[in-house]
Amino acid sequence: MSDVKKLAILPGDGIGPEVVAEAEKVLKKVEELFGHRFETSRGVFGGIAIDQYGTPLPEDTLAICKEADAVLLGAVGGPKWDNNPKETRPETGLLGIRKALGLFSNIRPAVIFDCLKEASTLKPEVLEGTDLIVVRELTGGSYFGEKFRRETENGQEAVDTCVYNVKEIERIVHQGFQIAQKRRKKLASVDKANVMETSRLWRETVNKIAPQYPDVELEHILVDNCAMQLLRRPASFDVIVTENMFGDILSDEAAMLTGSIGMLASASLGEGSFGLYEPVHGSAPDIAGQGIANPIATILSVALMLKLSFNYQEAGDSIERAVKNVLDAGHRTGDIAVDKSKALGTTAMGDLIVAAMTR
Ligand code: NAD
Repeated sequence: MSDVKKLAILPGDGIGPEVVAEAEKVLKKVEELFGHRFETSRGVFGGIAIDQYGTPLPEDTLAICKEADAVLLGAVGGPKWDNNPKETRPETGLLGIRKALGLFSNIRPAVIFDCLKEASTLKPEVLEGTDLIVVRELTGGSYFGEKFRRETENGQEAVDTCVYNVKEIERIVHQGFQIAQKRRKKLASVDKANVMETSRLWRETVNKIAPQYPDVELEHILVDNCAMQLLRRPASFDVIVTENMFGDILSDEAAMLTGSIGMLASASLGEGSFGLYEPVHGSAPDIAGQGIANPIATILSVALMLKLSFNYQEAGDSIERAVKNVLDAGHRTGDIAVDKSKALGTTAMGDLIVAAMTR
């Protein structure tokens, strides 16, 4: 019997509550199979919180998250709130929760399921064996540096400053090395050290930290080359660690190797083992309420939570194996089905995955 882990569950808007319900079934099955214990508290977050409390991130919701060991989030947003002023937009809640919880990295795995190889735009033989994670720095770089415009003799000029300090680089790079240690022990550090000063500091810092992880094989790669190699030899990457803007672009590129947005899990991590886990997709207003959303991204986010925040490797593996077996057996939701007439709904897919889970 293990200790009780506290989970904050924020279903959010649109398909968020539908896919989170399936993830909760999976958590129950983990309790049954492995004896782990989860104590869950639900919070109102996103558009629904704007409707009920006038803010996307109510104090009570934040308090539940701060008390928890990890947070599971569905998705937020929808046309109803699209034209709201900035403070009362669901996305402002997302930025707010990341900041308030001190989350500084975003983790996105890109895994190829053999049976879905044909659905990708790349050749199946190039994708064979692809299983990588992009670790992106979330709080620094040009997205958060000073920004301004000024008049010049050539017209208006716009400036975005890119700033990184050693502490910010160190904490994310340590995370990259530590995630690599739990996997195939290969780390690619991505920068633009041939032209950018922040990248030169990044590379120096990575080289200083590397001796602390002698079991991890380190590769430095320029971002433009990495963008190419992801398309040429995706299977050769294990963990990629990089700064905010490069990570934003590379994680979307890596995601598309796998085909469908309904399959992509993600985590945002802070110091220690705390993390916020959510599917990459949004609230999909076009299919909300129809019971047809693919719950796999959220279910795989739970697997990521078990592994990264709680070190429950076997339970996480069991979920990933169940997803693979269900897909291998030919079951599909509409977004990944070739024959749409045979597509399963959200609940049926969740039930099959739960039934396929074994120790
Ligand atoms: P989206 O990811 O919600 O949807 C894009 C397309 O993918 C849609 O056609 C949708 O039906 C489909 N799709 C997404 N998830 C799916 C799933 N699980 N199963 C089957 N199909 C799926 O992106 P969007 O349409 O650009 O945004 C819709 C709303 O979500 C917006 O309000 C946006 O701001 C918000 N959003 C929220 C998050 C988040 O909560 N983290 C992320 C992205 C977008």
